[in-house]
Amino acid sequence: RVLTRPFYYKTSSEFDNKVAIQDVTGRYTFNNIFSEAVELSKSISSQLDGKKGERILFLCPNDASYIVTLWAIWISGQIAVPLSPLHPENLLSYYANDTKSALIVTSSIYSKKMEILSDQAKVKLYVLPETIPNKSFQKGNVIGDGKLVNATDGALILYTSGTTGNPKGVVLTHKNLQTQINTLINAWNWTSNDVILHTLPLHHVHGTINALFCPMRVGATTIMLPKFDAKKVWSYFLNEGENQHENVSVFMAVPTIYSKLIDEFEQNIKNRGVDVKTTLSNRVRLMVSGSAPLPNPLYEKWLQISGHRLLERYGMTEIGMCLSNLYDSNRAPGFVGLPLPSVTVALADQNDGHIVVQCSNEDGKIMCFSENYKKDMSGELLVKGDSVFKEYFDRPEATEKEFVDGWFKTGDLCEYVHEDNKFRILGRKSVDIIKSGGYKISALQIETCLLAHPDIKECAVMGVPDEVYGERLKDWAVDKMPKYWIPTVLIFTEDIPKNAMGKINKKELVKLFAS
Ligand code: ATP
Ligand code: MG
Repeated sequence: RVLTRPFYYKTSSEFDNKVAIQDVTGRYTFNNIFSEAVELSKSISSQLDGKKGERILFLCPNDASYIVTLWAIWISGQIAVPLSPLHPENLLSYYANDTKSALIVTSSIYSKKMEILSDQAKVKLYVLPETIPNKSFQKGNVIGDGKLVNATDGALILYTSGTTGNPKGVVLTHKNLQTQINTLINAWNWTSNDVILHTLPLHHVHGTINALFCPMRVGATTIMLPKFDAKKVWSYFLNEGENQHENVSVFMAVPTIYSKLIDEFEQNIKNRGVDVKTTLSNRVRLMVSGSAPLPNPLYEKWLQISGHRLLERYGMTEIGMCLSNLYDSNRAPGFVGLPLPSVTVALADQNDGHIVVQCSNEDGKIMCFSENYKKDMSGELLVKGDSVFKEYFDRPEATEKEFVDGWFKTGDLCEYVHEDNKFRILGRKSVDIIKSGGYKISALQIETCLLAHPDIKECAVMGVPDEVYGERLKDWAVDKMPKYWIPTVLIFTEDIPKNAMGKINKKELVKLFAS
């Protein structure tokens, strides 16, 4: 199938004059953004001597210029690789070399940083004109401009978080993106009336596909904050100050963000006599959590404050969103729900790899098969479907290693709980399953238990080599969990180191504490 323009923006002109992005620099209509992208695509093409399928690194602030640049890269038939201002120099060089990029595109505020990268990696640099984005830019009918792309051509390379090793460049095709976006629009009831408050980094699935491409595709408005700021977010939620006219209807975040919002609530909002629960329940229709496990106490606390049952979902760079709690019903803490219609999932026995349960979703009708529903139905999560990535860029062996019989192996252990008809994530095969005294223990489940203690705000449970265990049991935990789950070493810190996405890197933590 051939696409003639980015499908991410509705092909009808219905939304042309609607506000697509509102950021610190102003408001931009869909037409502003699309017209500017078409114009910019010409400059990008002229840097590349008419080539197609080249990788283009780009670094823009969290504002309209990001989407203009991204679309321009797509319109010119190239593959976009978003960078983050939070990336250290060595990581930027790694991305530049790994993708063999032909060009770096950046906003002028990052030009110094990108000049260094351009010199080091020997990649051409193009600095965006200061006029982008431009509120008054309109060019009328621009349909048909741009290079033709195939649905199976690469559109985007997103790097995995690097939690378990070096970050891997995941090639997502136009078809992958289209599937992921359309699936989420349907599953989470997106409409053009929605207004999303966007505070996430723009180099991972969560902040890009889920929180930006979906609203852009459906004709909704995205309010982009330069970065997460708990005070600002609350002022939008409560329509206060300069934000009193914005009716945010959708919010998406990682668990750490909800935790920071709770802190801000406790410190500065609780005592002000505002009816937060009623306000948030009436205005906001959807609050999503994902990217990392959502601890039950956080779910409960947020419900108490906001009246919202967070919709937890599970996904990864290679597959986009995969398991999701239902929009309309049945959101339960500790569970990530059921497969989205774009995927079929299965759980493979950890010992012999046979499939213990397989589930698909045919337009909302969930079908699960298992030889034995009474048995423990846990194993490595396998995924198939149009949302599954094409390949790790330039790593055929790594790509091949992650597939078995057409299934992508996620490396995450998962349990299907038959009575609840829902999936639960047990953790990563490589770091979250701790072998102790002959038992296989899920670090995630221990973390959930420990988080019920009032003095523990965050925690990360890891297995470290320990000859003599069982000596240093903590009294408190004795009646909360099986004896063999009880951690033998407890280390208290002010903060647990996290990456730009708010994720704890257990591989690094183990190194820190095992020594
Ligand atoms: P790398 O692949 O480089 O080691 P990564 O797997 O952390 O890094 P991402 O693709 O950003 O990189 O993250 C996907 C992972 O995040 C999943 O494999 C899963 O372990 C975790 N994850 C995402 N959502 C959830 C969730 N709701 N509950 C538990 N874990 C989750
Ligand atoms: Mg991964």
